[in-house]
Amino acid sequence: MIARVQPLTRTRAVRGPFDYAVPEAMAAEVAVGALLRVPFSGRKVPGVVVELAAGSELAPERLATPERVLNAGLTPELVALARWMAREYCSTTARALALMLPPGAADGRGAKRALVATLTADGAAVLGDPGGAGHLNHPSRGFDAQRAGGRALTDAQRALLQQLAARGGTATAAELGTEALRRLERRGLVQIAPRIVPRRPANLVVGRADALAPPLTPDQRAAADALLAVLHAPAARRREEFLLQGVTGSGKTEVYLAAVQAALDLGRTAIVLVPEIALTPQALGRFQARFGDVVAVLHSALSAGERHDEWMRLRCGEARVCVGPRSAVLAPLEDIGLIVVDEEHESSYKHEGDPRYDARGVARRRAREHDALLVFGSATPRPETVTEMRRLSLPHRVDGRAMPPVEVLDMRGSHQPLHPETRMALADLRHGGGKAILLLNRRGWSNFLSCRSCGHVWLCPNCEVALVLHAARSSGALRGHVACHHCGHREPVPGRCPECASVSVARHGAGTERIEHELREALGSAGFPVFRLDAGATGLEVRARTLQAFERAPAGLLVGTQMVAKGHDFPDVSLGVVLDADQTLRFPDFRAEERTFSLVTQLAGRIGRPGGDGRPGAGASRVLVQTLAPDARPLRFAAEHDADGFIADELIRRRALAYPPYASLIRVVCAAESEAPAREAAEAIHARLVHGEALLLGPAPLFRLRGRHRTQIVVKARERRPAIDAVGAAVDAVGPAAARAGVSVSVDVDPQ
Ligand code: ADP
Ligand code: ZN
Ligand code: ZN
Repeated sequence: MIARVQPLTRTRAVRGPFDYAVPEAMAAEVAVGALLRVPFSGRKVPGVVVELAAGSELAPERLATPERVLNAGLTPELVALARWMAREYCSTTARALALMLPPGAADGRGAKRALVATLTADGAAVLGDPGGAGHLNHPSRGFDAQRAGGRALTDAQRALLQQLAARGGTATAAELGTEALRRLERRGLVQIAPRIVPRRPANLVVGRADALAPPLTPDQRAAADALLAVLHAPAARRREEFLLQGVTGSGKTEVYLAAVQAALDLGRTAIVLVPEIALTPQALGRFQARFGDVVAVLHSALSAGERHDEWMRLRCGEARVCVGPRSAVLAPLEDIGLIVVDEEHESSYKHEGDPRYDARGVARRRAREHDALLVFGSATPRPETVTEMRRLSLPHRVDGRAMPPVEVLDMRGSHQPLHPETRMALADLRHGGGKAILLLNRRGWSNFLSCRSCGHVWLCPNCEVALVLHAARSSGALRGHVACHHCGHREPVPGRCPECASVSVARHGAGTERIEHELREALGSAGFPVFRLDAGATGLEVRARTLQAFERAPAGLLVGTQMVAKGHDFPDVSLGVVLDADQTLRFPDFRAEERTFSLVTQLAGRIGRPGGDGRPGAGASRVLVQTLAPDARPLRFAAEHDADGFIADELIRRRALAYPPYASLIRVVCAAESEAPAREAAEAIHARLVHGEALLLGPAPLFRLRGRHRTQIVVKARERRPAIDAVGAAVDAVGPAAARAGVSVSVDVDPQ
C-alpha cells in the first residue's frame, strides 16, 4: 500500500504530497488522516496521510517507509477541509493541517502518560459478590483463593481493591500507592500499565450556572422550532443557514442550547463558536452546566496538555460538543449536526496567522459537508450575513427591559475629555449609587508625545507609529514608560528631546489610564470604586477578577477599551458612555461605520436596570456617545435603535463602492528588512494581476512594522473564485525569488 503524505513543514516551496510505502505491519493503522513520522529530506518530520493508493509512479526501491504512526490522527473530512482552506485562503495544505492538530501531537508528545492500575476480572470477583459491601470480607464461592496467590488478602489489600473499585476500576498507580498495587498485580487482581491520563481543564463557570432549561418565551420557541424542524429534516434539506438576530439579553444563548440538545438527541455533534473565551466565560459555563462532560473546550488559555487532551476527547467521541473561539471550528468531530457562531460580527473570527482563515467561512464550508444546520447570532449582524441567510429575530429582552435611550453629545470645540452632560450624569450616579461603563478605544495614558519647541514626535524604532505613554501617575514630572502597541517595544519616558534638547514634552490625547486616573481623582471613593479593563499587559486572571469586583460592587465605574462592551452581562448598569466614538469612526477601513454602529449598540444592550428597581436617585438608564461627528450615519441609526435601517443604508453604500458582499477583497503584503525588495516583489505580483478582471489598488507603502518595510496591494473583485486563484498563482510564481531576496509575502482573503 502507498500512502500519500503531506509533510508538516512551514515553507511554501514544499508542495507534496509525497509517496511512502506502508509496510504490512503498519497498514492497519494507516488511513487517510493518520499522523505519521516520515523521513523527509534527511530529517524525520511529522506528516498527514492525505490519500491512499495501490501503487506509485516511483520505483519501489526509491520509496521510503514511514517510521511510525503517531496517535493523534485527523478524520478524512478534516484532510479535505485543509485542502479547501489552502486554496480558499491562498496558503498551503501543510499549514492548514498543522492548525488542526493538537499541540505537541506532531512530535508524538502532548499526552501525559502515567502508570494506571485497572481492576482485573479476578480482582472484581474478589469484591463482586452479590451480597453487597457487607460481604466484602468473604470471597465469593466461585473465586479460587489459591489461584490468587495462595494467601488470603490482608484487610489493607482488600481496602485498596475497594478504593480502586470506587474509582470506577481505574486510577493512577501513584494515587493509591504503586508498591502495594504491584503486590496485587502479582496475584492477578489488578493490571498496571502506562496509559494516557486526561487532564481536564478546570471548570470556568463564573457566576451562577442555570443547569435547567427555562421554559422558552414565545419568540424563543418560534426561533427554536424553526431550527429544530431543519435538524429533524432529511439530509438534503438540512443544509440551512440562519441568522438569529436579537439584542443582548434577548435569549439567543437559550435558543442555541435548545438546538444543541436536539442535535445530541439525534446522536449528532455540535460546535459552538464564541468570540473570545476570556470575554465569555459565562457562555462557556452555561454549556458545561447544561450538558456536563460531553462539552469540551478548546481555547488558548488552556495549557498545551489540557488542549491536547480535550482534543483527544473530541476525537474519540467522548466529548460531542465543542465550545471555543475561532479555532474550535476545526474541532475533530464527526457527524456534526449543528454549528453555531455567536456574535458573528466580531473581527476575532479572523485568524491572523497563515492561513488567514475566517472561522465563519470555515463554519459554512463544514456545515455543508456534514449536512449540518448553521446558525449565526448577533445583535448587530454584518450586512453580508443579512443578505445571505434566513433571518429569525428575538426583538425583545427576556426580562422585558426596554433599550436605554442613546444620546449623541457634540464634542466640537471642547478641550475636556468629558462633555458637561457626561460629567453631570456621572455626578448623579455617584450621588445615587449606581454603576456605569465607560468606553474608550485607546489604551495607555496619552496617545503620543511631542516636543513643545521643535515638534519632534516620539516614534517606535521598529514600527513608525507613535509611542504611547503608560503608567504615568503624577501630573508633574513624566514617569512610567512609553510603549509601542504593535511590537511591544518599551523605553523610559524621554527626559529631553533628541532633536533640540528641550525638556518640554507635550502629551496628546487621553487613554484609558488617564481617564481612569482622572475619574478616580474626581469621583472615586471607597463606596464608588473605579475599575479599568483593557487588553494591555494584564492577564486573563486579572481581567476576570476586575470584572468580578465590578459585578459585586453595589456602585462604581468600569473604564476600558471596547472589550467592556462585549460578552459580559451585568444586570444593574444604568449608564453607558462612549468617550470617543471618532476613534472607531475614523479608522481607515470600509468597516469603520459598521464597527461604530455595532460598538454603540452592543454597549446599549448592556445598559438598563430591570424594571421596578426604584433605588433612590439612581436615575433612568441611558447611553451617552461623545463625538466630533454628531451627524455620522452609524451614530444616528444607533440612537434610533435601528439596526435594520443601518444595514439597509450600509448595503446601498457598499454596492455603490463595490465592497463586500458585492465584491471580495484580497490583500497582499510584501515585507522585508529593507524597502526596495519589498516594493519590487509587490510590483512583480501586481504585473501578473494587472490584466485580470479585478481592480487593483497599490502597490502602496504601509508603515514599517516590527522593523520590516511593507508594501501592499489590494485586489477588489466581483468574481471571488477566479480572483483568489489568480492571486494564488501570482504569489506562487513570484514567491521563490522573493524568498531568496528576504521578502515574505502574505495573502489575506477577506481582510477584516
Ligand atoms: P443572549 O444570548 O441573547 O444575550 P441569553 O440567552 O444569555 O441572551 O439570556 C439572557 C438572560 O435571560 C440569561 O440570564 C438567561 O438565563 C435568561 N433567560 C433566557 N431565556 C429565558 C427564559 N425563557 N426564561 C427565563 N430566563 C431566560
Ligand atoms: Zn525638540
Ligand atoms: Zn513597534
